[in-house]
Amino acid sequence: MKRSTLGIFSKFIMILSAFLWMSFTYAEHEHSEVAYQHAWSELHNGEEEFKNEDHTRVDSLTETHAVEFDFANKWAESIGQAFHYQLMTGKRGKVVLILEEPEKEMKYYERVKRLSEIYDFDAEYITPSILNIKNGVCSYADCKCHKKNMNETN
Ligand SMILES: [Zn+2]
Repeated sequence: MKRSTLGIFSKFIMILSAFLWMSFTYAEHEHSEVAYQHAWSELHNGEEEFKNEDHTRVDSLTETHAVEFDFANKWAESIGQAFHYQLMTGKRGKVVLILEEPEKEMKYYERVKRLSEIYDFDAEYITPSILNIKNGVCSYADCKCHKKNMNETN
């Protein structure tokens, strides 16, 4: 009796671990946040990792905006960051939300967009198309897609 309970329990743990592992793999991003930051900053003449006097860093500072980049699941956090950059730099805060799967993740952008219309900041979204991906690899050497490919060939 006891042994079979243990057996069921350990099977349950195994299944649970498998689910956890799957959800972790699912949350993996193909390309690093920094690659999106590079791509957007090139297009908008943004200064990356601009240092504030409180030692926090703005992802990208343009002539008009202090910009925060985040993946869709961090939509709420991105707004707080943008407000902080706005306060520190005196430039208008902006959230650039990364939608790796635009159809699925648009709802997160819509939340940010709606809030940006009520409160005092801007919002836009970008998708992997900004990265100029060729054969699964983008043009930014410090992106994780380059490390991944190196491991596969080794
Ligand atoms: Zn990449």
